[in-house]
Amino acid sequence: MFNIFQDNFKEDPYWWDDAPPLKLTVDEIPKKVDVVIIGSGYSGLSCAIELARAGTEVLVIDKVEIGSGASSRAGGLTSGRAGVSKLINLEATVGDRRANEILEEADQAYTHLQDFIKFENIACDFHHCGRFMGAHSRRAYDKIAFKMIEYNKGKHQDFEMVTQAEQSKIVNSDYYKGGMFNHNAGTIHPAKYHGELVRLSIEAGVKLISNTLVKKITSTKSGKEVFTSNGSIKAESVMIGTGGYTDKLSPYHRKRIIPMSSTLIATEKIGRDRVNEILPLGCPVIDTKRIISYARRSPDGERILFGGRARFTPIGARKSTMILHETMVKIFPSLTDTQITHSWTGLMAFTFDFLPKLGVQDGNHYALACNGGSGIVMMSWLGRRAAQNILGKTNSLSAFQNLKYKTHPLYTGLPWFVPMVGTWYRFRDWTEEKIDKGR
Ligand SMILES: Cc1cc2nc3c(=O)[nH]c(=O)nc-3n(C[C@H](O)[C@H](O)[C@H](O)COP(=O)(O)OP(=O)(O)OC[C@H]3O[C@@H](n4cnc5c(N)ncnc54)[C@H](O)[C@@H]3O)c2cc1C
Repeated sequence: MFNIFQDNFKEDPYWWDDAPPLKLTVDEIPKKVDVVIIGSGYSGLSCAIELARAGTEVLVIDKVEIGSGASSRAGGLTSGRAGVSKLINLEATVGDRRANEILEEADQAYTHLQDFIKFENIACDFHHCGRFMGAHSRRAYDKIAFKMIEYNKGKHQDFEMVTQAEQSKIVNSDYYKGGMFNHNAGTIHPAKYHGELVRLSIEAGVKLISNTLVKKITSTKSGKEVFTSNGSIKAESVMIGTGGYTDKLSPYHRKRIIPMSSTLIATEKIGRDRVNEILPLGCPVIDTKRIISYARRSPDGERILFGGRARFTPIGARKSTMILHETMVKIFPSLTDTQITHSWTGLMAFTFDFLPKLGVQDGNHYALACNGGSGIVMMSWLGRRAAQNILGKTNSLSAFQNLKYKTHPLYTGLPWFVPMVGTWYRFRDWTEEKIDKGR
């Protein structure tokens, strides 16, 4: 039997070979700062940079190494409006006007990321290459053709349908039954981008402390007191950017965030020619399944990185790798004899209405929950918006601010229902494929 594991197989992100997480400690934790930010991912660091550049004294605290949350584990796919509403009927959820505002702001967030990377000279292998969403069935193709009308509203005409006959210029696989191409999307090296945010934070004067658990936040007469495993700090404001790793520190958020694991694998180097044969346009490809999977080139163009969800119950890294390898080969049979060098998993934050959240609760600011693969753009943006709220610098409210933040009476933070929902989603994906084959 073919051994899919290369000898030097690692259960760490492929990205960490270039940009590993950082252990940053201090002799003594500061007694007082203006703002404490909890979480050193994109939301925490984007907030920190904006605040520090406005002259605020900022401390970022993380319970593990800086950057070992979701932000250095992502697939590196970046987009605006397609990312934020792909899982829901946005108009039915928030109404026409708010839906338009959300889509506009998501586009603004993507444009901002591009400008930020350019003007700050951020070395993160960013490519504005577009993205293909391949339909896993003909029914799914019809559904995204309908969704495209929502995306192309007003001045935006950056989505187009691609038939199965035309798709070979983008992706070499019979698995997809045509799909939708989004011109306004790209790819990034997520850990290099994160590392550059650390650099900009430090240059702006932000203090970062890793391996320090924040246990409790209380309100005082003059602001906040933050209790950590290394002592307590007084602050005027607190920002919570804890994503899918949100713990009992904030019971309000814990009851409203559903942590979902997601896995990626990296193939061995197969060479640019083979990679270009599979993804000739160089853009990533995601599918339309409820349990999505996606493929992209590595930044050096030598490998395929393949992501998705292996299982909804905890299984080991090797088992997840085998399941993802099998899915990858189903889509790209030419990768059958390809070994895997890296496999890693991280936690994404979902909400009950599948929308990201920005706001203030118990006097603490928060920017949370990307709801799937749109966190690079959205969490960077919402972190920055949270900073503007803290500074009182906003002329207009973000479309993501003060959205209803639902919970469920039976949910306390342990996602017991996820395996059941996962099985149901898998069944629906499977039946759709079967019906398609029977047509
Ligand atoms: C495998 C995977 C693939 C993904 N692919 C993509 C993609 O292709 N494109 C995309 O846009 N998005 C993708 N995402 C989503 C994206 O990575 C996240 O949305 C984003 O990184 C979240 O950033 P964040 O700052 O909110 O949280 P994180 O980066 O998760 O940071 C939160 C931090 O808070 C810390 N923390 C939590 N509680 C405490 C506490 N009590 N005290 C101290 N520290 C605490 C954690 O240790 C963690 O480091 C992916 C996610 C995963 C896991």
